[in-house]
Amino acid sequence: MATLADRIRDLGRRIADVAEGAGRDPGTVRVVAISKTVTADRVREAWAAGHRLFGENRAQELVAKTDALADLPIEWHFVGRLQTNKVRFVLPRCALIHSVDRGELAERISGRVAEGEEQPILVQDNTSEEDAKAGVTLAALPALLDRIAELPGLRVEGLMTIGPFTADRDRIRSAFRSLREARDAERDVGRPGAPLQDLSMGMTADFDIAIEEGATLVRVGTALFGSRE
Ligand SMILES: *Cc1c(COP(=O)(O)O)cnc(C)c1O
Repeated sequence: MATLADRIRDLGRRIADVAEGAGRDPGTVRVVAISKTVTADRVREAWAAGHRLFGENRAQELVAKTDALADLPIEWHFVGRLQTNKVRFVLPRCALIHSVDRGELAERISGRVAEGEEQPILVQDNTSEEDAKAGVTLAALPALLDRIAELPGLRVEGLMTIGPFTADRDRIRSAFRSLREARDAERDVGRPGAPLQDLSMGMTADFDIAIEEGATLVRVGTALFGSRE
């Protein structure tokens, strides 16, 4: 059976292959190892194997895991749906919040950032036309970015999306492409505090398509830690 260290190495190779195949520098794609439901000991094992960037999708689990692993300078990202009353738990612990999808949430985060500091965020978009999915619609994205630009203490590093749950690779590709096109258009607007260099897209089933379409952050859980059932 493959060890966690084997899987980390294999994933790195696959990503490098896909990136090179797409004419991209593999160094421009980072893997956020999604450690939800995985024990702190397994995260420690991944750290020992050389991985440094991890993501969680629930505030409570993030708190428990960051406390248990406080001795390691892990870079933590938050990728899940975030309730405004949980912002205070997530904020000091995360280098990047991927899932800002509404003005109310952006305001709450802004209100908790210390003066003179900036919290890096991504704006989550619903690119898949699936109603249940979190994220602002692409049509409403410009207005949300305008609103965020008025708030102090936020730095919009880019956009994030979850691809459609389908085996149809063309549909997945078109969702990722629409995120990149939206990013390109909004970056041209040149809002202050919104460099928009990052695209967080692609999970275990579709990170290859995402990289071909320009992902700079892929969020991979199952391919590293096994299935969560
Ligand atoms: C769970 C999760 C992932 C990772 O999914 P896998 O299919 O296990 O790679 C990525 N992004 C988000 C937002 C998640 O909740």
